[in-house]
Order: sequence, then structure tokens, then C-alpha cells
Amino acid sequence: MGKPTGFMEYPREIPANRSVSLRVLDWNEFHAHLADDKLRRQAARCMDCGVPFCQSACPVNNLIPEWNDLIYKDQWKQAIMRLWSTNNFPEFTGRVCPAPCEGSCVLGINEPPVTIKNIEQAIIDHAWENGWVIPRPPAIRTGKKVAVIGSGPAGLAAADQLNKAGHAVTVFERSDRVGGLLMYGIPNMKLDKLAVVERRTRLMEQEGVKFVVNIHVGVHVDVHELMHEFDAMILACGATQPRDLKVPGRELQGIHLAVPFLSANTKSLLDSNLRDGHYISAKAKDVIIIGGGDTGTDCIGTSLRHGCRSLVNFEVLPRPPVCRAPDNPWPQWPRVLRTDYGHEEAAARFGNDPRHYCLLTREFMGDEHGHVRAVKTIDVQWTGTNGKFCLAEVPGTEKIWPANLVLLAMGFLGPEDTIAKRLGLETDARSNFKADYGQYATSIEGVFAAGDCRRGQSLVVWAIHEGRGAARQCDLYLMGHTELP
Ligand SMILES: Cc1cc2nc3c(=O)[nH]c(=O)nc-3n(C[C@H](O)[C@H](O)[C@H](O)COP(=O)(O)OP(=O)(O)OC[C@H]3O[C@@H](n4cnc5c(N)ncnc54)[C@H](O)[C@@H]3O)c2cc1C
Ligand code: SF4
Repeated sequence: MGKPTGFMEYPREIPANRSVSLRVLDWNEFHAHLADDKLRRQAARCMDCGVPFCQSACPVNNLIPEWNDLIYKDQWKQAIMRLWSTNNFPEFTGRVCPAPCEGSCVLGINEPPVTIKNIEQAIIDHAWENGWVIPRPPAIRTGKKVAVIGSGPAGLAAADQLNKAGHAVTVFERSDRVGGLLMYGIPNMKLDKLAVVERRTRLMEQEGVKFVVNIHVGVHVDVHELMHEFDAMILACGATQPRDLKVPGRELQGIHLAVPFLSANTKSLLDSNLRDGHYISAKAKDVIIIGGGDTGTDCIGTSLRHGCRSLVNFEVLPRPPVCRAPDNPWPQWPRVLRTDYGHEEAAARFGNDPRHYCLLTREFMGDEHGHVRAVKTIDVQWTGTNGKFCLAEVPGTEKIWPANLVLLAMGFLGPEDTIAKRLGLETDARSNFKADYGQYATSIEGVFAAGDCRRGQSLVVWAIHEGRGAARQCDLYLMGHTELP
């Protein structure tokens, strides 16, 4: 514990992001850093509580009190060594993680929690800036070959760990760039594609991981051939089946799923700085985004940067409370209202929060050209207890909202079934690849599954955790023993 009285002396301080009015004019990251002396004070707020609830709430079990102590003592190199021992990619989580750790911070019981996520980002960014992140290829190769299908955070974490263990790892990715939703999902202003994502995957290449892009396994290459060629396989294909909204008018033009909208934008941005026009533009349009969450927020931020005319965001659930409800005590994840970067930007541009709650979409209405012109909604009420809630429409509350671009950000229904069908892989009741948590072994010997394709749509930090776990089990399968954590 760096400073026993730090939590009493210093208030929580996070760096002010780039100003809203300026950042919506470009696609650069909005994150900022605190000066080192201020960061040290933030680290000094950690009470090193003995039972680190933060560490248990962090899916990769980052050694949070240890690195807080080291930052307070200005020992940055030791801090990054601690961080690497649990997390392959802190530069991703330090930017995009919703920080369940902070929801469980003991200081958070009666004070704002320690700025754990921000300190994590500072530690890894400091390490890159100081040249401490260098290729560390394994000293010995085992002669075993592993294929990883999918290059999102689960696939990357599995590949990184297996490469460290000395196996020859090839990652197959059907997109033209590596990173999964880190590349083509989360927009550039939240996670820089060249400066952060590709910097990491280039380093992995230098360490010996082979990336093969534009190959759709199960379509361009037979998955059985790969099984023959490789000693083991890790499926990290993500939960890429979107939830659609099958209401009248869904066939109208101008209604798009969120991920194709976001990914086309990032691809066009990276290929041509949006000059090729190969993306769906929200410029001068009335935009309605159906569905909240990270995806909805990213659609808001992207539409604003295109220069949309108006923007609203529908959410079928009720508005969360500002503070924890009695049935949501510490150290549970706080189910409270969060104002993310996109909401902040929309409020600055249009004068109010774009979110509207308890709204059910009834119908999309079109014009004479078959293009969407409006969305019809009805208010709903939620009733129930003990986690069982029912939705009831409120008669007489229909409303028509003008829209000529509608984005559907309503979540995902599990992985596509191409590979599962080709392999005869067992799936669970939610159509995810069946593999027990902690074991990650599928119903086919030598084939493991990790990340969203196994657990359903989740978070980057969970994908990293599962990729690491699947790598450990795969190493054990290949070698009969493992030293991977
Ligand atoms: C728009 C959006 C924003 C998000 N924002 C956040 C956030 O801010 N913070 C957060 O923690 N989480 C966020 N998430 C969730 C997070 O991105 C995912 O939980 C995480 O990326 C899952 O990782 P994964 O490796 O399992 O799968 P993915 O990242 O989905 O990667 C799977 C990869 O497999 C490839 N693939 C699939 N099938 C094949 C095949 N047959 N052959 C070859 N390649 C294949 C896909 O092309 C894809 O690149 C967001 C999700 C979305 C959609
Ligand atoms: S990875 Fe997420 S949960 Fe873990 S310490 Fe970082 S911000 Fe917290």
C-alpha cells in the first residue's frame, strides 16, 4: 500500500477526454492521460484492502493493488511486468473495458472508486512509449502446430499464449484486417486501429505468430483439411449472428444492422480516409438507433461524425437508476445509468440525451421509393419481481418518429453455424459452441472454443480471459503438461 492515508486525502480524478466539440470533427481517439504526479495520487487512493474485490471482479484477475502500489512508488517497469502476468493486451482493456473492477472497489462503498482502468491504460501506454514492449519470441519451439480461427481478442490472446509456449500458431481471419471486433466493430475514436490494434498484431508477428487474412474457414478452406494439417485448433469465431427486428417494413431501404454500418466505416476510413465512399453515411439524415449498449453508443458516435441531422436512440428497457438500487448492492456490477462518450457528444450537439426508454418498435414506415421515412413505436411498461419481468404495451401511446437511416444494435444470437455443421460440433441451448468453462474442449478432440462463440456476446476482457484459458488447455492437450497460467 503506497500511502495509507491516500484515500482520505485525494479525490478521484480521471483525465478530461478531448473536448466534445472538437473530437466529433475527427476520428482520433478521445482518451487522454493524467500527468504522472496526478496518476501517482490516484494510485495512492488504493487501500490494498487485503481481500481485493477489484481483482476478483476483473475477469483476467489483474493484480490491481500491486500495480497501484508500484505506480505510487514510481516503479513503472515493475508495474507493467505485474500487468503482463495476467493480461496480454492492457492497451485494449485500458481503453474499452467497462471496468467491473471499479464496481467492486472497496473504496467505492462510500467514495468514488479508484481509477483502475485509467491507471491500467497509463501503465501500458507508458511501457510502449519507453520501448519496453519488444518482441519476445520463445526460446524453444515444440514442433506442434495450432490453428486459431478468428482474430478477435479471444483468438489473439490464445495465439499469444500458445506462441509463448513454443507452438507454431497460425491465425485465420476472414476479414482483410486482423482484430475481430477490435478492428471492425469498436470505432477508431474509442480504439485506434493503426496506433493500438495493429501495433500489437505486428509485434505478435515479430514474435512468430502467423496471420492469414481473407480466409473464411469452412468456405475458402475445408476445416477438416486444417484439422489434418494442425495438431490442435482453437475456435474463436465470435458471436457474429445479429439479432434482427422482424416488424412490418423491415425490408425497406435505409435500415441496417449496426456492425456492417460500423465496420464499413472503419474499413473506408483506413483504406481511404472515407474518400472511397464505401460506407453507409448518416450525413444530413434523421438517424434512429434501436438498442443501447456499446454497439448503440458506437453508432451514435459514428453518425455524429458523419454529420447527421437528428439522432435518437430507442431502448426497450427502463432507464436505469442513477445510484445502485437496494437489490444491486456492492460489490455487484452496478446496474446504473452510464453516460458514455456517444451520449455526451449527442447531448452537446442536440441539447439533450438521445436515449428514450421503454419504447417498443412496432413498424417501419416507407416512402413511395421504398425507403424508410419513419418508425412507429409504442410505450411499454415492465412489471414483475425476482428477475422475472413482463412487458406490456401502454394503449394509446403510439408515436411516429421521422427517420431516413435506422441502425439496429440489438445484440447477437451466437456464432454462425458453418464450422459447427462441417465439424459436427455440439452446440448449447443458445447455439454457442459447447465447451465447459475452464476446460474449453469442444465435443471434437483437439478442438477448443473461446470467447463470444462459446460464452455468447460479452466483453473484450472476457474474450482475453477465455483465450488464455483455452490456450492453457490446448497446451496441456498437446504436451501432457503446461506452464501457461
Ligand atoms: C460494436 C461493438 C462494440 C463493442 N464495444 C465493446 C467495448 O467497448 N468494450 C468491451 O469490452 N466489449 C465491447 N464489445 C464486445 C466485444 O467486442 C466482444 O465481446 C469481443 O470482441 C469478443 O471477442 P472474440 O474474440 O470472441 O470475437 P470477435 O471479436 O467477434 O472476433 C471473431 C473473429 O472471427 C472471425 N471469424 C468468424 N468466423 C470465421 C471463420 N469461419 N473463418 C475465419 N474467421 C472467422 C470474424 O471475422 C472475427 O474477426 C463490442 C461489441 C460490438 C459489436
Ligand atoms: S481489465 Fe477491465 S476489469 Fe480488469 S482491471 Fe482492467 S478495467 Fe478493470
